[in-house]
Amino acid sequence: MLQVADLSVYFATRRSLAQMARGQAAPPVKAVDGINLEAARQQTLGIVGESGSGKTTLARAIIGLAERTAGDIRLLGLSLPPKLSRRHKDLLQQLQYVFQNPEEALNPYLTVGETLRRPFITLAQHTRAEADTAVQQLLTAVRLPATYAQRLPSQLSGGEKQRVAIARAFATHPDLLIADEAVSALDVSVQASILNLLSELQHEHHNTLLFISHDLAVVGYLADEIAVVYVGQLMEVAAAAALFAPPYHPYTEALLSSIPLATPDAAQQQIRLQGDVPSQINKPSGCPFHPRCPRYLGEICARETPPWQTHANGKRIFCHIPLSELTRQQAQLIPLETPETGVNTL
Ligand code: SF4
Repeated sequence: MLQVADLSVYFATRRSLAQMARGQAAPPVKAVDGINLEAARQQTLGIVGESGSGKTTLARAIIGLAERTAGDIRLLGLSLPPKLSRRHKDLLQQLQYVFQNPEEALNPYLTVGETLRRPFITLAQHTRAEADTAVQQLLTAVRLPATYAQRLPSQLSGGEKQRVAIARAFATHPDLLIADEAVSALDVSVQASILNLLSELQHEHHNTLLFISHDLAVVGYLADEIAVVYVGQLMEVAAAAALFAPPYHPYTEALLSSIPLATPDAAQQQIRLQGDVPSQINKPSGCPFHPRCPRYLGEICARETPPWQTHANGKRIFCHIPLSELTRQQAQLIPLETPETGVNTL
């Protein structure tokens, strides 16, 4: 359904006075840096990473809201024009987006009915009567009463607004739906119902879902395949079941360690990453994760780009540590150190 090849999205920055004096160009922000991904028809691809990892820019490049610097994005084998304004109406129908904040998708001055009717009239060219019937069906599909068509967004709760935003995204039967942090602004009590709704609608509509979140537990609940991103680069790509079994990329291992276990007595290694995600203007050399990596090997991590290694179960890991060694190390709870305190000597 979706192929992303060597995708890069760089943003220009302003030159400093020193750079102007030296006649130097300002280095760009490398928000997405050479990402390759594929998502199969009717599957959910989860994208996970901390805030600032480039996952939203990746999604915005796919939808046409962020212009790509390099690379190609294909939907059903056809290359997508980089700019939204260059995309045909049929293509707009095929690709839909659910934002973190449903307010972004809902006009505060339009009733729910008017918001949901619009795509049927402007994109699918329904008559008013056909659109009204479709609106009622959509409200039923997202478990909202038909009377909600008369309400304004200000008369809805956060969860109800997100249900309307999801209904709007599904209105055109998209082939690909991108949900960007779609539940992170909602109460925990509402999150599960929205996740279940997304999953049910996806199975009914047979579309592909790109589900983006900083929360690996949430992504693991919904995704068939998971891509872990860090400063605009992929660190690991695996089927969901394989991602939760060793060997893990050391960054994935840290994300996993922060998920509470269902069995409180089970031994769990808590890995607290030091510092913040580095600047995408001056990315660390070698492995971009090396300044924070608890399994840092030494100079090789700081200087050399790691190889992509493929495990027998199909997962791919971007790391210098051989997969057999990672598996051995991660099978036991060990004291881990960061580059500031030492190196992993195991
Ligand atoms: Fe850590 Fe080195 Fe692997 Fe990067 S290459 S994840 S720094 S061990």
